[in-house]
Amino acid sequence: MTSLEIRDLGVKFESRQILSKLNLTIEAGAFAAILGPSGCGKTTLLRTIAGLITPSEGTIRFGKQLVSVSSLVLPPHKRNIGYVPQEGGLFPHLNVAENVGFALGKKISRDERQSIIESMLTLVGLSGFEKRLPQELSGGQQTRIALARALAMKPAMVLLDEPFAALDQALRAGISEEVVALLKSTNTTTVMVTHDREDALVSADVIALMRSGSVVQSGTPAEVYLKPISADVAESTGDVVTIPAVQSNEGRYFSILHHSEGLPQDGLKGELLVRPEEIRISANSTASRVTATISRINYYGHDALLELEFAGMAKLIRARVAGPMNFEVGQTVFVEHQGPIRWVSGNATRE
Ligand code: ATP
Repeated sequence: MTSLEIRDLGVKFESRQILSKLNLTIEAGAFAAILGPSGCGKTTLLRTIAGLITPSEGTIRFGKQLVSVSSLVLPPHKRNIGYVPQEGGLFPHLNVAENVGFALGKKISRDERQSIIESMLTLVGLSGFEKRLPQELSGGQQTRIALARALAMKPAMVLLDEPFAALDQALRAGISEEVVALLKSTNTTTVMVTHDREDALVSADVIALMRSGSVVQSGTPAEVYLKPISADVAESTGDVVTIPAVQSNEGRYFSILHHSEGLPQDGLKGELLVRPEEIRISANSTASRVTATISRINYYGHDALLELEFAGMAKLIRARVAGPMNFEVGQTVFVEHQGPIRWVSGNATRE
């Protein structure tokens, strides 16, 4: 296993800047998820780490080894990386054993090769599948064989590009849990590209959030979820409500969620970022005097999203209520915010 350190990375395709001033540090043995919208440059970043794309600027280090700097680029086969491209990338004309053994080269004996293939197939829970062709496997089995092929060379790092995207929802949770547990058990440094926030939150030790070719925030799942740097970034990891607010000259925050009297005229305008589960509602008066009317209920069984209408504000606010609930549309309820104050100045009152 190795650490990964990327500094000021830039990648251009012809004259188009795809990655720009990208910084990322991943500790040895950690499982990192790169999360970002389609087209933000996730695959380009992964392919650059693998050595398949030459950057125009910046440095990439594996541990202390500099693998990429403007004058030197270590070729992919010398990077000791297992790369699993989107859809697994298995060779359709080779059977499972040939696919898994593909990267082992000719320097090892036949017996040694056989033993590595067997141990890799045992590791991914598919021993006995040696003779099958890729098209004779399910999506989840193909993912595991692609992983076995990547792990066969005992790589210092594994790069996964949307490994679970092709799987249907029912299979997905089980397979992704298995694969993540497998990689963690082998202590391999892993970088996984995904645009599925739940995959990232559940599996990663560290999440790097990308926007337009840069990493805009990175941290543990709890850090990026609880302390997002902007509303846009907060939306990458979960539902978020932006609430018009004012910071008074004394540094107090006022919003419709915290004060029934409305917002003060003086002070700095901004927004508070609130997660829907931090808005507590009650049929009876609590410490809070703030009231709202329920205008809609989306019931999901394990929880429900309630749309709340506040007097004097056009914007509707969503609150999440866990478990069984007995609220109804049209009901007036007491509302309280129980969570951290996340203040974003300017950009206020997006209705
Ligand atoms: P997705 O989630 O949809 O896979 P992504 O975040 O992985 O997207 P990339 O595939 O890295 O995004 O693409 C980033 C940008 O670079 C896109 O605008 C894409 O059109 C462009 N791009 C990717 N590969 C090439 C290439 N070989 N030549 C020119 N432009 C490219």
